[in-house]
Amino acid sequence: MNKKTIIVTGASHGIGRKIAKEFAHLGCNVCINYNNSKPQAINLKEEIISENKNASIMLYKADVKNRAEVDEMVDTVIKNFGKIDVVVNNAGIAEYKLFIDITYEDLLNMFNITVAGTFNVTQSVLKKCMIRNKSGSIINISSIWGMVGSSCEVNYSTMKAAIIGMTKALAKELGPSNIRVNAVAPGVIDTKMNSNLNHEDMENLKEEIPLNRIGKVEDVANIVKFLASDESSYITGQVISPNGGLVI
Ligand code: NAP
Repeated sequence: MNKKTIIVTGASHGIGRKIAKEFAHLGCNVCINYNNSKPQAINLKEEIISENKNASIMLYKADVKNRAEVDEMVDTVIKNFGKIDVVVNNAGIAEYKLFIDITYEDLLNMFNITVAGTFNVTQSVLKKCMIRNKSGSIINISSIWGMVGSSCEVNYSTMKAAIIGMTKALAKELGPSNIRVNAVAPGVIDTKMNSNLNHEDMENLKEEIPLNRIGKVEDVANIVKFLASDESSYITGQVISPNGGLVI
């Protein structure tokens, strides 16, 4: 992985933060994308540099919904590092609502961050770099709820299922260009996205999970590292689900 260049969207918190950190430690050039959480993004950079002063990090504020901001981010990464090898489309939001309470604005907002956000970053990187280079790995973070659906998360489940569809179709289209596209569909991972769940909820969830624990950010990061590396060079169009056996 040494000196590969990677963009991780939504890297200020949670899963994206861990992924960015891991790639920085592997010697990659890492673009840490954030939107609202500038202090957390700066803190991540400081944390990485304190552990490895030679780490190659760029912070970039861009809202993945906004194509102009995404294009500027991609241009800046190429200008600084010369190329982009790996994209991790991780930015996302949660929403817990009864279906009948979901507004059209909620639907559009979830679509814009999840589906359009992944579309924007992926298309920009393909056009500006990967297709010309005939090389790349695109990793989309979906969810088990995109595979099996979740009550009170219809909007989220809908968009995460769309991410799986996009992944599979794009893998077929981009295979001849030597660009791989895969999805990771995590189960319940301990991040602020699940901060609405109290201790009792978490204990109840644990009981439903065959491996009897809530997932950690590294459970997702480890799969992303594999999919980014040449060790997965024959894997494309796949959905890998670190979920402790919750969904088999
Ligand atoms: P998190 O801790 O809430 O972090 C979400 C990240 O997304 C933040 O860094 C946030 O950045 C970023 N983000 C949100 N909207 C954005 C936008 N418009 N543009 C750029 N960045 C944006 O969530 P997480 O648990 O790490 O989730 C990461 C991904 O994993 C999401 O796609 C989520 O759906 C998926 N996932 C999570 C779980 C789980 O149980 N945690 C399970 C399955 C899948 P700012 O704060 O800087 O705006």
